[in-house]
This record gives sequence, structure tokens and C-alpha cells, in this order.
Amino acid sequence: MRKSGKNKIRLSIGSAIALGLSNGKVDKRVEIKTLYFMLDHVCVGHCSFCSKAKGTLSHVTWPEFDLEEALEAVSRYGRKERICIQCPIYPKMVDDLEKLLRNLSGLSVPLSISIPPLSSKKLKRLAPLVDRIGIALDCADEKLFADIKGYSLNKTVESIRAAVDIKGEVTSHLIIGLGENDFSLYNAMLQLLGAGAYPALFAFTPLKETKFSDRARPTIGRYRAIQSLHFLLTNEIDPKPEFRNGKLISLDLNGIKRRAFMTSGCPSCNRPFYNERPLGPIYNYPREPNDGEFEQCLQEALGYLR
Ligand code: SF4
Repeated sequence: MRKSGKNKIRLSIGSAIALGLSNGKVDKRVEIKTLYFMLDHVCVGHCSFCSKAKGTLSHVTWPEFDLEEALEAVSRYGRKERICIQCPIYPKMVDDLEKLLRNLSGLSVPLSISIPPLSSKKLKRLAPLVDRIGIALDCADEKLFADIKGYSLNKTVESIRAAVDIKGEVTSHLIIGLGENDFSLYNAMLQLLGAGAYPALFAFTPLKETKFSDRARPTIGRYRAIQSLHFLLTNEIDPKPEFRNGKLISLDLNGIKRRAFMTSGCPSCNRPFYNERPLGPIYNYPREPNDGEFEQCLQEALGYLR
């Protein structure tokens, strides 16, 4: 947020449309229950896949609004169940975030923050003001981590553990398609769950002007298989996984329910079209898949498991 003039905030375009602040169409089948904010500051981080340093995130645009105007629109919006604040890396980020959280506290809506790894001291400042803390692991491969993220895996894991100790309710994003294999994803999910954090899956989305702009998205079959593995693990059902050279080749799909293929993360977070183009493929369903979609998801997973 700026020091002079009106304070500004960025909203995801979907949230801005839902709030009546931008023009555009929304899929009427999708309820916008979580509103996505982003602190209005350039990110000084160097994640190879991310465009936050350029003022966008994934392929979503984040128009800028006066904070006061945005808060008024949020208070009028009847369907809000959560607000999530995306936080770029910059020196005064925690100060700005704390101010914003205090501004939002009057709305009585559960707040999530998606932050870089922070010290326990900083986490303790933020924890009382939020419902959940999100600290992304993003990359499941230990060897690729530092190269892709620009900081250390240990620092990230320590901060996730500290957030669990301090707050209890913690989400950690994992991106499928950064060069990791399926076994690394399985291990990362087990480690996050063991530490008390909930893994949220994202599909890698290539973005212009990033180091990974020419990399491929994950295949839909692989994504469905990992969503199935995630669903079983997070519901404490033994997935009976088998791997060959790091690739998942077998999984017990008996316990799979439709919500396995929906967006995963904090309660009410459905991130419509965050990873996908409107014409598909839909990696994370922002609503429950219908009969045909569910059957297709299962077939896609099965097609991968060989
Ligand atoms: S899962 Fe959703 S609400 Fe939670 S931190 Fe991630 S984007 Fe925000």
C-alpha cells in the first residue's frame, strides 16, 4: 500500500467482477465465495514460474482499486465466506499486510494470507488477525527447489512448521509441473500433512516473460492421478500407491469422490479459472463436477496409471 494519496489494493479480476467493480462475465454455475486481494507492490522475489514481480499472478489480471472503494464493495457483497490476500515479497510487506488485516477485521469474514516464509516473530504479529496462514512450498523436488524459488527449502519448511505451531490452521500450495516426479509430490504431501499443514494443488501455468514461459502444462491425466492421490491422503484413506522410476503407476481409486477434482485449499477457496482457460481443460473444478465430468476425470486418472 502507498504511503501518500489514497491507499490502493489489487483484486483478482473475478473478484472485481463479482463485487461490481469491473465489467465482465462470470460463469453463473460458479459461486464466488472467496474474494482474492493482492497487496499493491512489486514483488522482488525470483520464482521461475511466477509473474508476481510484474504485477500479475498466474494468468489472472489484478486491477487496482482504492482500498476504501474495495472495502465498501466487499461489505455489500452477501456471498463472501473468505478473503485471501496474496502477498508479494518486499521489505515492508508485513507492515502493509498488518494494516490491511486491521482494516478488514470489521467485516467479520475469515481471512487467509498467502505469504512467503517469515520468521516466527513476524508470524506471531499476523496470526491473531487471520483465520489461516498460507505458505507455499510450490516445488516438491528438493533438488530443484532453491533454483526455482530463489530461496532455501529449509527456510520454507521451518516457516511452515512455525506457522503450524503458532496458528494451527496452515495451507501450503504445491504446483504440479515444475519438473518434479510423482514420488516427490507424494513425499511432499506426506511431509506437509505430517507437519500439520494442508496441501493445496495447483497446475503449472506457463506465463510470458517468466523463465518457465516455454514449459508445458502438466497433462490432464497426470493431474487427475495426483488429485486422486491428494484426495485419498487428505481423507486418511490408504491410496496403496505404486511407483516406477518416480512415476505413479497404480492407485486404489475406490474411495474417490467428486470433490477430489475440485479446487483444494482453504475452506470456500475455489479460484475459478486460476489455472485454466475458459474452454478447458479444467484442472481444478470450482464447483462439483457433474456425472459426465466425474466419469471423465476418473478415466483420465486411469489412463495415466500404467
Ligand atoms: S488455498 Fe486459496 S484461500 Fe488458501 S491461501 Fe491458497 S489461494 Fe488463499
